[in-house]
Amino acid sequence: MNVRVRFAPSPTGSLHLGNALTAVANRRFADAERGVFLLRIDDTDPSRTVDGGEMAILGDLAWLGVSIDEGPFRQSERGALYAEAAEHALGAGVAQRDSDSSIRLGRDGTTLLRADGTATYQLASVADDLELGITHIIRGNDHRPNLEIQQRIARAVGGVLPEVIHHGLVLGEDGKKLSKRHGHSSIAELRGEGFPPEAVRAYLDELDLPAHDVHLDVARLRRLAIDAIAAMSDEELAAAAEAPMDVVPVLRGARSLVEAREYANLVLEPAPVDLPPEARLTLDRFVELREPAPERLSPDESRAVLRELKAVGGDLRSLRLALTGASTGPELAAVLSTLSRAEVLARVARTVVA
Ligand code: GLU
Repeated sequence: MNVRVRFAPSPTGSLHLGNALTAVANRRFADAERGVFLLRIDDTDPSRTVDGGEMAILGDLAWLGVSIDEGPFRQSERGALYAEAAEHALGAGVAQRDSDSSIRLGRDGTTLLRADGTATYQLASVADDLELGITHIIRGNDHRPNLEIQQRIARAVGGVLPEVIHHGLVLGEDGKKLSKRHGHSSIAELRGEGFPPEAVRAYLDELDLPAHDVHLDVARLRRLAIDAIAAMSDEELAAAAEAPMDVVPVLRGARSLVEAREYANLVLEPAPVDLPPEARLTLDRFVELREPAPERLSPDESRAVLRELKAVGGDLRSLRLALTGASTGPELAAVLSTLSRAEVLARVARTVVA
């Protein structure tokens, strides 16, 4: 069988994590079966169409590495197909036209075509799944209640609904429906929080096709972010953090791409700081140690300098503040080996000690 699956979001903007799970699950299924993955934009309901919503979805799919083989097909452009399907049901005697000229399915009165001639979601979805040759529908279990009616509509329009696989939804950590309030609820949010795409994709792949609803495991997502950053080449990490290659050693310990960018900024453009008088000793001792050493230090040499500084009573927090303008941040040895001797000494020299 030539497997054909579809991902069919409404164009409401960046994908919810649960919807992203559906997309990834469909893509994986298509890949495993050497099938085709198509994107359908379910925009029959104008109140759910957001400006730029489709663009956001395309961007999210690309970010997640979900490639599209066919589409996007837009339901708003396929009205003729739906009208034809409704006519078929009329002709077969399983639907009738109401006095307001809407078309309903006989037995249960489900509306197929509204009085204004536009298709309902139920009809559009079924007509598309048949016309696009979909073999498997993979979607969240919030659509389980639609299954029976869609099977009936499929028969009414002369077809058979493809096999349907419903998967569990992704809920918030508190077990409630995932929403903005939780944070980490949409791909846009996760991207903004600095989760690398590889981590989000790995998390969704791990969830696979959950039979039941699952609670978002943010700790796991954070762990995967650390793994994804560790797995990046220097070039990839520099690009992901929008930082120059020579600061990569400093970025290595970052737990997110946001943190990596912060680390880069601390090294590239530290804020000036005023230090208390006690810091004088640390800075003087540091200059004595750093001045005679080579222009560039390896990480090991940097660590040796820091060890010696501590041994002579230096305080690494003061040095960190002088070099990066912040009291926390990247590994200090990485900072020392990233910056040249001239730069390090200049930063110490311009630090004001009250
Ligand atoms: N447009 C529906 C949604 O966004 C998808 C329906 C389906 O997959 O059958 O949830």
